[in-house]
Amino acid sequence: DPSPIKEPKKVTKQKVVTLTKYVHVERDPEIQAARLKLPILAEEQVIMETINENEIIIVAGETGSGKTTQIPQFLYEAGYAEKKMIGVTEPRRVAATSMSKRVGKEMSLSEKEVSYLIRFDGNCTDKTKIKFMTDGVLLKEIENDFLLKKYSVIILDEAHERSSYTDILVGLLSRIVPLRNKQKMPMKLIVMSATLRVEDFTSNSKLFKVPPPVINVESRQFPVTSHFQKTTPKNYVQEAYKKSLKIHNKLPEGGILIFLTGQKEVKYLVNKLRKAYPCNKDINTQKTASHLKTKKKQEVDSDDEFDVKKALNHMKRAKKKFASEISLPKINLDNYQLPTDDTMADLLEHNLEDDELSENYDTENEDDDDNEEVPMNKQPLWVLPLYSLLSTEKQNRIFEPVPEGSRLCIVSTNVAETSLTIPNIKYVIDCGKQKTRLYDKITGVSSYVVTFTSKASADQRAGRAGRTSAGHCYRLYSSAVYSNEFEDFSKPDIQKKPVDDLILQMKCMGIDRVVNFPFPSPPDADQLIMAEKRLQALGALEETENNVGKVTKLGKAISAFPVAPRFGKMLALSHQHDLLQYTVALVSALSVPEVLMESKDSDNKWQQTRNKWASDGNFLALGDAMILLRAVGAAEYAGSQNKLEEFCNLNGVRIKGVTEIRKLRVQLTNEINLNIPQANLCVDPQMKPPTELQSKLLRQILLSGMGDKVAHRISQDELTTKEEKRKMKYAYNVLDLQEHVILHSASVLRKKLPEWIIYQEAYEIDNDGNKKIFIRGITEIEPEWLLTYCPKLCNVKQIREEPMPRYDEKDGKIYSYVEGTFGRAAWDLPLAEM
Ligand code: ADP
Ligand code: MG
Repeated sequence: DPSPIKEPKKVTKQKVVTLTKYVHVERDPEIQAARLKLPILAEEQVIMETINENEIIIVAGETGSGKTTQIPQFLYEAGYAEKKMIGVTEPRRVAATSMSKRVGKEMSLSEKEVSYLIRFDGNCTDKTKIKFMTDGVLLKEIENDFLLKKYSVIILDEAHERSSYTDILVGLLSRIVPLRNKQKMPMKLIVMSATLRVEDFTSNSKLFKVPPPVINVESRQFPVTSHFQKTTPKNYVQEAYKKSLKIHNKLPEGGILIFLTGQKEVKYLVNKLRKAYPCNKDINTQKTASHLKTKKKQEVDSDDEFDVKKALNHMKRAKKKFASEISLPKINLDNYQLPTDDTMADLLEHNLEDDELSENYDTENEDDDDNEEVPMNKQPLWVLPLYSLLSTEKQNRIFEPVPEGSRLCIVSTNVAETSLTIPNIKYVIDCGKQKTRLYDKITGVSSYVVTFTSKASADQRAGRAGRTSAGHCYRLYSSAVYSNEFEDFSKPDIQKKPVDDLILQMKCMGIDRVVNFPFPSPPDADQLIMAEKRLQALGALEETENNVGKVTKLGKAISAFPVAPRFGKMLALSHQHDLLQYTVALVSALSVPEVLMESKDSDNKWQQTRNKWASDGNFLALGDAMILLRAVGAAEYAGSQNKLEEFCNLNGVRIKGVTEIRKLRVQLTNEINLNIPQANLCVDPQMKPPTELQSKLLRQILLSGMGDKVAHRISQDELTTKEEKRKMKYAYNVLDLQEHVILHSASVLRKKLPEWIIYQEAYEIDNDGNKKIFIRGITEIEPEWLLTYCPKLCNVKQIREEPMPRYDEKDGKIYSYVEGTFGRAAWDLPLAEM
């Protein structure tokens, strides 16, 4: 029986009490002048009074009104950073790093005092007063210090984005803050959001018994005229190109901001626009004062934030340190050291930024024929890309003055929707799409799709044109599509993505009854149950009927690794036989999409090479995962960058994939060394191919994390007709689907067709209504392993009398043979020892 929802407290704006500022801040006059123009400055008094009188408040305001940059400063001046820290969380890494730099600059404080901490990176010190961090980082900190004793106030920024971590933080802090105040350790919470669906936080009586006061920051927004297209073109990148030429050729001055869906599209359009205005070539390479400063750096790091050279040097140093052959001490799971050090707090933030994930913009689809608009304007166009993986230096170029006489044009992903406010935009071109990863809740089948955004997002995007004067938004879709196909709001992440890692983390905090947790919008019950089951099957949670299982020792070890739980388990089991370095490489390789490309020619040289690798020398690969490992290993022996390119072209390896894997290996290795000092692991980019024993163990370790992805070949004996035999040759059954799946043609096991396999991914292809599910990333397993590595999925019926139990001299144990079934489909287990 839900208690009636109470009205939020009214915030009175008339009350005049002079604020006492305790802490003096020295600001540059220019910066101070710019601050005074921000709408939020007019609300400082109201905000500070409200926060002084309430434990929890909500601040809602238009993007660009000054919430992120100013509120931490208000708090600082009012003394909130005197004894403890002011903590600010951001769902995006970009925002955490760039906002800490901006606020530090505005306050003339160094990065020692205004700092950031994101996964794998940070500059916090014991002098830090204001700490920007990703929401995942703070969640991890709560695991070690439930009351967040180091903070006097927490600001949850961009709460409207509804990232899973922020949602959980809102739920946790709704309890932590009152508890702290009860214990006489005062603490405040500020939830900040764009002006979107604030009711999700205020009208949820499970979350806040008394709804916190809401302060709406009124900001001046100039009218924006929206123009819809008559039709909705398929190729929106091309359409965006044409539209930007039109604006630049014909319309009065004012910056252009173009929204596309991913990094690849952005880069493509930036190049195309720069080419269209060759007159600005020298402008685009022109050095303004601050460009000069960063020039040197940019020459070294291409468009990648990651500095490969630095990483390699690091590896070399590490190698020297542990000269000779690296041998890992055997680590007993019981001795696992869980992180206690605060600097490791960011361990579990494992959501890759969307930009990093699969890209599906195909330049071949481009139709250049009806390119009516040609560049005519002699005025240069200053074209800049913006996406989350761009280095901070390059991102900051959007805030720098535009070279004299040219027009600003920014091509962005949805980073520019609410996280970063770009000055002087008058025209917005919105493709109306966004890239999302879709998951089937039950089967876990995933796919990347470009879908329409929500009405709320489209309106946010349009709003970017009206910050400094009246503007225009060109929507590359029809008004009918907007009204009929766009949802009002995007669903919160927690209702869209698998929640396995979140549940494991909550259990690690001792929240056993996840269903009772005060989520702002609860994930659906089925999804919670499935995730809990998968975690039980992994052995990370105790098995219970009603899903209140506590975390196990293994579960704790798994959660210490900054990867998805199934990969965490693989790492946790790899402490023997020098396996950890291979598992690290394998887990990294499996986390990067499409490393091995599929060839389109008929002779299929790449496939031939892979087949050859599969059975080369003493390296019996027995599957695609091991081929991947082999390709990654071989690439490291290529030598120079040119040689590497040659190797990749010859063998169909995506070179960028190789770089990403290397980066992940270094990161994972560093994390493991910090967590498990005994491991003394070092990434040797040139590790030797695994021995036959090692590759067998690796397949077993893969199985231990992927028990839910076991597939069993459909028995060919029962097929009678020739037609049936042809059709079902590559067909397998998987655990959670009724229909059969097809082993993908790019698998090296397509020739062998083993009876038992594990697959990395199942995905559906719809060929004109003819739907087929394919599985790829295949590894052969032995059915005898199931009982050892996926015990939770086996149902043992009885111990057999025949053959006789066997005494093993090595470990002094007696093994008997058992009979039973595997998985919900109840496939017969083969004769297995126990
Ligand atoms: P909100 O959080 O309400 O969306 P912000 O605090 O992010 O607003 O931004 C306030 C203002 O500060 C905006 O006009 C924005 O353009 C400006 N700003 C933010 N970061 C920078 C920066 N690095 N350089 C110059 N101006 C910036
Ligand atoms: Mg903001």
